[in-house]
Amino acid sequence: MRMLKNNLGYPRMGSHRQLKKACEQYWSGKIDQKELNLVARKIREENWQLQLNSGIDLVPSNDFSYYDQVLDMSLLLGAIPTRYTPVLSSVSNNNELDLYFAMARGYQKDGLDITAMEMTKWFDTNYHYIVPEFTADQQFKVFSEKIYAEYNHARQIAGKAAKPVLLGPVSYLLAGKEKESGFEKIDLIKKLVPVYVEVINQLKSYGATWIQLDEPFLSLDLSKKEKEAYVYAYQEIAKQCNGVKLLVATYFEGLLDNTQLAVNLPVDALHIDLVRAPQQLEEVLALVPDNLILSLGVVDGRNVWKNNYTQSLVLINRAVEAIGADRVMVAPSCSLLHTPFDLDQETEIHPEIKNWMAFAKQKLHEVQELHQIANGNTELLTANQQTIAARQKSTLIHKTIVKDRVAAITDSDAERKSAFPVRQQLQQQRFKLPLFPTTTIGSFPQTDDIRQLRAKLKKQEITAEQYDAAIEQATIAAIRWQEEIGLDVLVHGEFERNDMVEYFGERLDGFLFTKNGWVQSYGSRCVKPPVIYGDVSRPEDMTVRWSSFAQQQTDRLMKGMLTGPITILQWSFVRDDQPRSVTTNQIALAIRDEVVALEKAGIGVIQIDEPAVREGLPLRKADWPAYLDWAIRAFRISASGVQDETQIHTHMCYSEFNDIITNIAAMDADVITIETSRSQMELLNAFSNFEYPNEIGPGVYDIHSPRVPTIDEMVSLLEKAAKLLPVQNLWVNPDCGLKTRKWPETQQALKNMVDAAKQAREKT
Ligand code: GLN
Ligand code: ZN
Repeated sequence: MRMLKNNLGYPRMGSHRQLKKACEQYWSGKIDQKELNLVARKIREENWQLQLNSGIDLVPSNDFSYYDQVLDMSLLLGAIPTRYTPVLSSVSNNNELDLYFAMARGYQKDGLDITAMEMTKWFDTNYHYIVPEFTADQQFKVFSEKIYAEYNHARQIAGKAAKPVLLGPVSYLLAGKEKESGFEKIDLIKKLVPVYVEVINQLKSYGATWIQLDEPFLSLDLSKKEKEAYVYAYQEIAKQCNGVKLLVATYFEGLLDNTQLAVNLPVDALHIDLVRAPQQLEEVLALVPDNLILSLGVVDGRNVWKNNYTQSLVLINRAVEAIGADRVMVAPSCSLLHTPFDLDQETEIHPEIKNWMAFAKQKLHEVQELHQIANGNTELLTANQQTIAARQKSTLIHKTIVKDRVAAITDSDAERKSAFPVRQQLQQQRFKLPLFPTTTIGSFPQTDDIRQLRAKLKKQEITAEQYDAAIEQATIAAIRWQEEIGLDVLVHGEFERNDMVEYFGERLDGFLFTKNGWVQSYGSRCVKPPVIYGDVSRPEDMTVRWSSFAQQQTDRLMKGMLTGPITILQWSFVRDDQPRSVTTNQIALAIRDEVVALEKAGIGVIQIDEPAVREGLPLRKADWPAYLDWAIRAFRISASGVQDETQIHTHMCYSEFNDIITNIAAMDADVITIETSRSQMELLNAFSNFEYPNEIGPGVYDIHSPRVPTIDEMVSLLEKAAKLLPVQNLWVNPDCGLKTRKWPETQQALKNMVDAAKQAREKT
């Protein structure tokens, strides 16, 4: 069958994060640009070779990036904010790469101090891209030749299979930000398209047969104007670019109401994500015009599990039957950028579980095998069916007790015993806190000596007893110090934690950790998310030891500190064999048990952090209510096992609350602490307009900067907050945890914060 194997993009850090290391060495002046380029070149060559070895027919080029593929586009299109002009003249011989890194990371050299461009999440992934900046008189012109250089290099290795990849014009604009008022970014499409035409024709002249234009925004809600921009852009490109085949790639969601628009774009092929939205195959087939090729994204580019060939085959066969094998491509659902590099490097995963998994390299192989199976190889199919069946039955995954408990959850499990006003009164009687009570969000500076302790423990250079003793000392010191400056509700400092999700994952059943499962988060930063492979349960207490140790050191209130179910889910690779909501409920029950155990151990105030609630929102607004329903309920399940007198806090940062305030209120935490200082309490408006009834701690200072806030500025923020919300509901705290800060600034800032609270009390 002449069915092509397509790949949209490949991880670019290298099998051992070579690019990360090389970039960081380059930034610190340890290697020169030539060396950096060599590392990059080698990674690209290895990636192309790997893809060719797996029989991929359309091998991406320009998916490599030194920092971010969207920033690459801004440089290609000459969308360089004017504040960087001095960099160009200041760096030696107009060095494009240094300009590029200046845009990504800011520039503080040669007497210049220029801020970096903003960074934000790439759709619902944990990848962050550099947001293009647009002005009313924005001009575009080809600036960087990187895309040509990489294509020419790819041609040498992959020949005709090489396929340049660009972010498409409409998605590029929609991913950006208007930096001044008086225009709409989408109106820039007329200025932008000619540059795309030039680039496409240039690539064609170098020999490109296929060019991939990523248009992920086609799977999102679009306005009429945005839809028109799609029609305009692709008609112009089709008119002015002949003799090269264009593939428009959509992913992360179904096309839904944009199906008609997408299938009728005048291009040669359309890629659709059939992992996220398998049902869209029928919708697309119903409208697909003659000649349009469909690239079927059947191998999950966002997760670590082996493909279920039987399911994929149903989709492939259906498409082949409807439009013929000549018009079908098999592919991963999206760029493999979002999966770790190579499962073969994992030596410590339980062999049975490892056999259910696939990383980027293995996923290429799956595309190849699916192609072979579609051509009649039954052996491969049978082997896969056996693996899938084993996973479905494995006792490593399936725990009847856990499943039964989730099935038995009732509405009352998600309800505190009494309503908030009753609880508030009981808690006031119990804790007798002053007006404007002060607290912190949990972590204190994770200094080098604390991190080294953990490294030494791992290398067995110290014993567990020595480690614990050292952590105890750090905890005691932090407690003494908090007492001294007069904080009202203390924390133990989280010195024993590496990371707020990993710490819990390591203590829960159903989680595993990889050695090398790195995924790019932004620039040179990579994360290694835990993998939830099985039913989640809590074999023993997770935090009680440290929280009760801390409480024993002081007469003041010690706050217990947990990570919430949505955040644990959101920052892990999750199971694909049950709905996210079920996994979340399993985690929620485990956290609930921990909350109850803390209460039993005498901890009266317990915080359940949920910073990831907002980022879990589905890409399509219509799907929001369903998600918020189960997500908020899961939080409530985790929080509702305690008596009315126990005070439950939650914490959220990086959040815009306006459109989800009803749901935030429905979490019904006794106290919520949020990030607000950078917006000068603007984020509080949502709570104020809603007349948010429970207690709330709007962050009074930004923890992302070492700057020490003055007493006055915090007093005035508190005064502002007191105008928006009832004074008796207000708490005083920083924006978030302090683990990335150093001690000197932390101590000064918190002293000032306590003084600010005192002044606010006197004024009331
Ligand atoms: N308790 C955590 C800390 O203080 C919360 C971190 C977060 O919200 N991201 O570090
Ligand atoms: Zn936070």
